[in-house]
Amino acid sequence: MRSWTLGLALSTMLASGMLVVGQAPPRTALLIVGAEVADGTGGPLRRASVRVEGDTIVEVGDEVRRRRGDALVDATGLVLAPGFIDVHNHSTDGLAADRAATTQVSQGITTVLVGPDGSSPRDIGAYLAERRARPATVNVATLVGHATVRLQVMGDDHRREARADEIARMADLVTAAMQAGALGLSSGLEYVVGSYASTDEVIALARAAAAQGGVYIAHIRDEADLVFEAVKETIAIAERAAIPAQITHIKLGTVGVWGKAAEVIALVNAARARGLDVTADAYPYLAWQSNLKVLVPNKQYTDRASVKEALDDVGGGRNIQFTRLPRYPQYQGRRLSEAAAAEGVSEVDFFIRIADDDVGIIGHTMAEPDLKAFYQQPWVMVASDGGVGNSHPRGAGTFPRVLGRLVREQGWLSLPDAIRKMTGLPAARLGLTDRGRIARGGKADLVLFDPGTIADHATFDAPGALSDGVRSVWVNGQVVWRDAAVTPARPGRVLTR
Ligand SMILES: [Zn+2]
Repeated sequence: MRSWTLGLALSTMLASGMLVVGQAPPRTALLIVGAEVADGTGGPLRRASVRVEGDTIVEVGDEVRRRRGDALVDATGLVLAPGFIDVHNHSTDGLAADRAATTQVSQGITTVLVGPDGSSPRDIGAYLAERRARPATVNVATLVGHATVRLQVMGDDHRREARADEIARMADLVTAAMQAGALGLSSGLEYVVGSYASTDEVIALARAAAAQGGVYIAHIRDEADLVFEAVKETIAIAERAAIPAQITHIKLGTVGVWGKAAEVIALVNAARARGLDVTADAYPYLAWQSNLKVLVPNKQYTDRASVKEALDDVGGGRNIQFTRLPRYPQYQGRRLSEAAAAEGVSEVDFFIRIADDDVGIIGHTMAEPDLKAFYQQPWVMVASDGGVGNSHPRGAGTFPRVLGRLVREQGWLSLPDAIRKMTGLPAARLGLTDRGRIARGGKADLVLFDPGTIADHATFDAPGALSDGVRSVWVNGQVVWRDAAVTPARPGRVLTR
């Protein structure tokens, strides 16, 4: 009797993450009883219990018996889902500075894919070794960035198309990065560095990633008036490089293309009907965050006509909010229209005055019907485009926002479908065969939440405000979030193929 009590107490401490030792990970035995299980496939909720041993789900079903030493979690009235997999996450550096990753696990995120938008660590092997040596609460995987390899080969002389020999050297770097553990190639073709690349250059690098079983995740060349051409380019890359391709943070970002989601969806559906593996992800916000220069597609940042057109495209300076404004910190958080008025100049003049500064902005430039149409496609998953320390509310609020606002309040999609878009679908996209589902033999990345109260609270003014409703989060069988706090456990692993 005495040893039973001790065993129970010990296993309770292990399951709660109270015991964290430097050597072997503690052997957790955990029984979660009576949850409504959303298993990640999109199938209906079903009442079941889940038993975990070590880092693995060992039983799922109605008749799971409690065994000696099991820590018990009563999940009555709560939903148990696989841990959320965020396929567009900017915690590349943040995971070193903030291994607790509180804004991430508090949302239910258990795996982050970093290296997005064409930008990744140069030495993927060293980066992943560092993550293994100093693990975080969450699992991490990375992409290799197109702009990163482009800069390695071309240096400052990158404002042109690359020569064949340069493309070959970039492809070799992509191959090496994939062999060091990257899951695929990312691009940021809208940004300086990536934007100078030809389609053929991207195809060559995508082929190198595809040869190693990788995916291509694209911040496409244009998300505004030329978005349809940019989507077609992405589909062409998927086809010619024979690679699964994902349009990341899919959006229609200017007045001229608002309401045209159906046209983008038709392009992707046609590609999929031809057998191409093209998917997308979206964040549940109608605003985006980038730098001031992305507003001007022709890069004539001091040309009055170009700047005027750029501002007209987003509905004027009232839709542009500053997040970083080095020479005018007093306007941080304010709109471009307000800053111009305070300076007594036109919006165009103020833009030109700050064009060469390192200015960060939020563009309030998307339409709700487009977001809804994208989320209702079975090939669109949820991703944050956020991460540790993000200055956009999506960094702390994305996943609860979908489950609270879009599922519970607005009814855009069913709860099991939303969970699939956060778990099974991204896991399949990345080739993570033992995550993203609640099934026997899978890794025990789990989220327990209250579907009636889950809600995001992060705003543009308070982007780090944590969400409510996520009760417990386990990563590799260890609890990392419980009672509205991060535990001491740091069980996150590096995920490679
Ligand atoms: Zn991006």
